[in-house]
Amino acid sequence: MNFDTKVLQIVNNAEQKLTDFFKELENIAFLNQNKVLEAFQNNNVALRHFSGTTGYGYDDIGRDTLCKVFADTFHSEAAIVSPLIASGTHALTLALFGVLRPNDKMLAISGAPYDTLLSVIQGENIGSLKDFGVSYEQIALKNNDFDFDEIKKSIQNKVPKLIFIGRSRGYEWRDALSVLKIGKVIDFIKKIDKNIIIMVDNCYGEFMDTIEPTDVGADMMVGSLIKNPGGGLAPTGGYIAGKQDVIEQVAFRLTSPSIGMEIGSYTGGYQQFYQGLFLAPHITMNATKGSALFGQVFSDLGYDVCPNPTAKCNDTVRSIKFNTENELISFIQSIQKASPIDSNVLPLPWDMPGYVDQVIMAAGTFTGGSSIELSADSPIKEPYIAYVQGGLTYEHVKIAVLMCVSELLANKNK
Ligand SMILES: *Cc1c(COP(=O)(O)O)cnc(C)c1O
Repeated sequence: MNFDTKVLQIVNNAEQKLTDFFKELENIAFLNQNKVLEAFQNNNVALRHFSGTTGYGYDDIGRDTLCKVFADTFHSEAAIVSPLIASGTHALTLALFGVLRPNDKMLAISGAPYDTLLSVIQGENIGSLKDFGVSYEQIALKNNDFDFDEIKKSIQNKVPKLIFIGRSRGYEWRDALSVLKIGKVIDFIKKIDKNIIIMVDNCYGEFMDTIEPTDVGADMMVGSLIKNPGGGLAPTGGYIAGKQDVIEQVAFRLTSPSIGMEIGSYTGGYQQFYQGLFLAPHITMNATKGSALFGQVFSDLGYDVCPNPTAKCNDTVRSIKFNTENELISFIQSIQKASPIDSNVLPLPWDMPGYVDQVIMAAGTFTGGSSIELSADSPIKEPYIAYVQGGLTYEHVKIAVLMCVSELLANKNK
């Protein structure tokens, strides 16, 4: 291989330190694989479920069964899984608009929701929740946990119809929230008022643990199929899983209040969605091993990383704090260079729709913008933090780490 001995040594040493941690990840993948397999078997998934449909898609058995397989995998009463959902943001928007009505209050309890939701909630004259008369309050996390006192106060002040929790960290320097922590706050809220709908943004969280937010009482959880649960094969789409009555309301928003999930065709067929879900526990493990390797290597090189290399991961994202804007940009460019697709493209900072700061992104992916595939992005602002995630195979991520370190050391020696 064309890597310097010194670089190989750094990366191999880091890998050694992760041996026990990797065993834990393998055990999580094993238990999750079993969950998914059981869901397939309980629903008698067969080749006929892979066929596409056209037009209205009445009696689209592939669609209906896929929804059931997701619901069973996540131990929820119902699920909507659809290629007609264009992205994670779209799925989250459907979920919010599905249940919130004029004069309702939405309360976010894990700080600001993901960037692309800000204008969905508070935008002016764009059909935001605010435009429809839904009020909004937000409570920051306290010591990386929920602020129970403030939550209680806010609920007593005006009972929210919906409480929003973001499991992943978004562009924040903190650990993602564990499902156990989420479960504790859900218990706390439900004891105050069991009717409050609790929604979890589960993007990047699926299969990171052996339980999901729906196992600890979330009324609905939402995610993107071009992240973990699509297993790198789903070409597009999103899901919402949760309680039957809530999911039904969301289905009315997805299509029409008179139709719900009775329609929706997809001529491309569903094999990639099924097969992607089947692979998802393993692919998520690969990405998480890769993420830990990034963490260990850059930590060994003296950079701050989050979470710490062998801390339990609650999402696939690894944040690395660089010293300068140049170092950051060069890192993102190295990831692009290490990608199977568009490796010759040089990413540059740009004004990405839905984001506040300029963003630089590496996404040399088979599926456009997929972040279960190796990808990295970063808002251009101080401190200079890169967010790396994904990797369909651990071997690929290791090669990318080797390339990033080679480039970094070469630049330092210039
Ligand atoms: C990816 C992501 C979303 C949705 O983003 P899309 O790019 O619209 O799919 C929402 N929340 C979090 C935490 C995410 O990681």
